[in-house]
Amino acid sequence: MDTIAPSNSRPVMHSRMLAGRTALVTGSTSGIGLGIARALAAAGANIAINGFGDRVEIDALGVELSRNYDVSVQYVGADMSQPDAIALMMRELTATLGPVDILVNNAGIQHVAPIETFPRSRWDTILAINLSAAFHTTQAVFADMKARRWGRIINIASAHGLVASPFKSAYVAAKHGLIGLTKVAALEGAEAGITANAVCPGYVWTPLVEKQIPGQARSHNMTEAEVIRNVLLVNQPTKRFATVEEVGALVTFLCSDQAQSITGAALPVDGGWTAH
Ligand code: NAD
Repeated sequence: MDTIAPSNSRPVMHSRMLAGRTALVTGSTSGIGLGIARALAAAGANIAINGFGDRVEIDALGVELSRNYDVSVQYVGADMSQPDAIALMMRELTATLGPVDILVNNAGIQHVAPIETFPRSRWDTILAINLSAAFHTTQAVFADMKARRWGRIINIASAHGLVASPFKSAYVAAKHGLIGLTKVAALEGAEAGITANAVCPGYVWTPLVEKQIPGQARSHNMTEAEVIRNVLLVNQPTKRFATVEEVGALVTFLCSDQAQSITGAALPVDGGWTAH
């Protein structure tokens, strides 16, 4: 009989399993990113918060996370559409919280319009924030992760990284590209203890979704209630929005030692949408 070598990884996920790790979650002042930041802080990781918003509210959020979970929290406000600002943020962050162990590329925006009237500037900005920013942050952390032989890169793509919908050319292109980047990072990091995965939510109720409803209503010539029922949830068989807590829980699991063999994957959290 073949001998089975004992595993040297810790046997179970435990509540403070990420204690001592540092996580950067881009776009974490709101929605899914905030849910992920809370989940990682609850697991003990020190958190770098990034994103736009009211500075007083962001500072209050930092105090809340740090008090509730006994972790260090830092706000790094770089505009993720600007490569130079990203480079500066990564240097500042490493100097204060230490090297990034967990990189969650989550910042993203949306614009809904038919191809023939899709504004070129929106195309460029969506590609910059939803795709290129993930390359810039990954490039900034990769050598350090390799040297320390541990890293987790989690790219928040979308069901729209796997399938398309009309009127979302830039978003769908960027999210498909993000899954491609994830696979390359997985292959390049595989022997150095780095995993890279994409999480592909279906519709999650957040400000990003709420804000696109008027545009969808205009493009589809529907009321807002009809957009929710007949457009947003039409392909989501569970007929419910996913929650930010569900996405946060998956991201936390992907950071565990038990997820070491999950890499290069694009994992749907979409209520069965992409099973169609
Ligand atoms: P949201 O609008 O609630 O949050 C977006 C976050 O990104 C905010 O913190 C915002 O300040 C930040 N952000 C936007 N532009 C930025 C920039 N230039 N620089 C830095 N930060 C910036 O959106 P959300 O719904 O939580 O979406 C988060 C991610 O999840 C996005 O990548 C989105 O594509 C993806 N996603 C969302 C859904 C959904 O249904 N909500 C579904 C699939 C994928």
